Amino acid sequence: MKFSELGLAEPFLRATEALGYEQATPIQTEAIPVVRSGRDLIGCAQTGTGKTAAFTLPTLERLMNSLPRHGTNRADGGGGKANRKNGRLRPVRALVLSPTRELAVQIADSLDRYGKFTPLKQAVVYGGVSQHHQVQALRRGVDALVATPGRLLDLINQGHIDLSKIEILVFDEADQMLDMGFLPDLRRIVARVPTVRQTLMFSATMPNQIRQLAQQWLSDPASIQVAPAAAPAERITQSVHLVDKKRKPDLLSRCVQERNWVRTLVFSRTKHGADKIVKRLKRDGVRAAAIHGNKSQGNRSRVLQQFKSKNPPVLVATDIAARGLDINNVSHVVNFDLPESPETYVHRIGRTARAGAEGIAVSFCAGDERGFLRQIERLTKKSIPVEPTIEGFEPTEPVGGQAVRGRRPRGGSRVGGRSGGRRRDVGQGRSGSKSKGHGGKSADSRSTGERPRRSKGSTAPIAGRGPVKPAGDPGAATTRRKRRRPTTKL
Ligand code: AMP
Repeated sequence: MKFSELGLAEPFLRATEALGYEQATPIQTEAIPVVRSGRDLIGCAQTGTGKTAAFTLPTLERLMNSLPRHGTNRADGGGGKANRKNGRLRPVRALVLSPTRELAVQIADSLDRYGKFTPLKQAVVYGGVSQHHQVQALRRGVDALVATPGRLLDLINQGHIDLSKIEILVFDEADQMLDMGFLPDLRRIVARVPTVRQTLMFSATMPNQIRQLAQQWLSDPASIQVAPAAAPAERITQSVHLVDKKRKPDLLSRCVQERNWVRTLVFSRTKHGADKIVKRLKRDGVRAAAIHGNKSQGNRSRVLQQFKSKNPPVLVATDIAARGLDINNVSHVVNFDLPESPETYVHRIGRTARAGAEGIAVSFCAGDERGFLRQIERLTKKSIPVEPTIEGFEPTEPVGGQAVRGRRPRGGSRVGGRSGGRRRDVGQGRSGSKSKGHGGKSADSRSTGERPRRSKGSTAPIAGRGPVKPAGDPGAATTRRKRRRPTTKL
């Protein structure tokens, strides 16, 4: 459908035209009319489908329609601590919650682009950086706010943000926020938002917990699903190398050097692992960089820019750092470690074959990861072809793996292993893992510099993945001074 047929107001048609968008994507075609009608919406869609515009365009349009007559969003009062304390400032009326700072910045960029021809203002707040500039931006008055949950609560508690005038509340990547232990924070935030509001919830997967929350927080929502989360894009060619754990670095180095891998994104389960892979590749003369939660915001932005350039290094990422990132033209996704959750596999390989391109996803499966491989095959209802063994890389490890209930798919690759508990021996697992030197923060929270405040005993299993690791590092949110993003005119 053409954008012009969606009935959006002129400033938004101009914006999409300026961006070169002609046709609305499926989620935009379905979601925009629903959101414009004022109805709540639950959308199952991944990044890359155009979902940001799907909620941003009608949200901004609504903000334009209800623009307060007497408000201003300029710093006209000065010194007022909270936007609510200065009666002449326009209140925050739309709030978009994001699990990671990268996604938050991306959404804020979208608000900028789609609202370019409006007088609306937006700001983004996230942890891991000084709050100073964020507070200054808030003081100037903001119509739409993008936030990660921990920093948002910090700023609310300090009196810098008032959510009592929120008209639209958007949860983006809701499943990811739950995985990261943000549920208690989300509950606190929802409690501060008016009950009469429009609520939009987007999630890449729809586990039961998301559905339950949607029942609590959304009112008679329309439900939209663009591509089933379990179905990787048809255009992704998948394969798996059965290889011993200790041989994986050699195999990766060899593949990257000998094959024509143009823009390669490697997933490592742990941050330490990601660093080790980068070190190893560099030793072999391969340009490589890591992106994960222990890297500074400046470093992460720089590495991302390099990866998007014409001559990209191999990018080695942890799941949280890469989730939600809008990177096109990834030629190869490598699962250096197989993820513990099969949904994560689908998200990972969805980094390639975007925007109609072809993509290749290669997984390295060690003996004790066979159970994960079978879980992936069960979820995707597809067997993943096993690559012919490369001389010198013959698997010798005993085959084991996490217990998997149910049958393996018919015609599945011969990767069977005995059932049995798999020891969580990585430092970044969602549950049960013990992280050292991070104040007990989960890998995910460390990645965002956020402050998940998990309530005591709040260890409800999420989508069968076991309890979420409690996390908390009150100091981390505000210690480091990083690049900031001031309020921008939309
Ligand atoms: P998203 O899923 O929102 O992260 O969007 C993924 C990418 O698709 C972004 O780079 C958008 O700029 C782009 N995009 C969104 N909608 C359209 C559209 N209708 N036509 C072309 N590109 C689009």
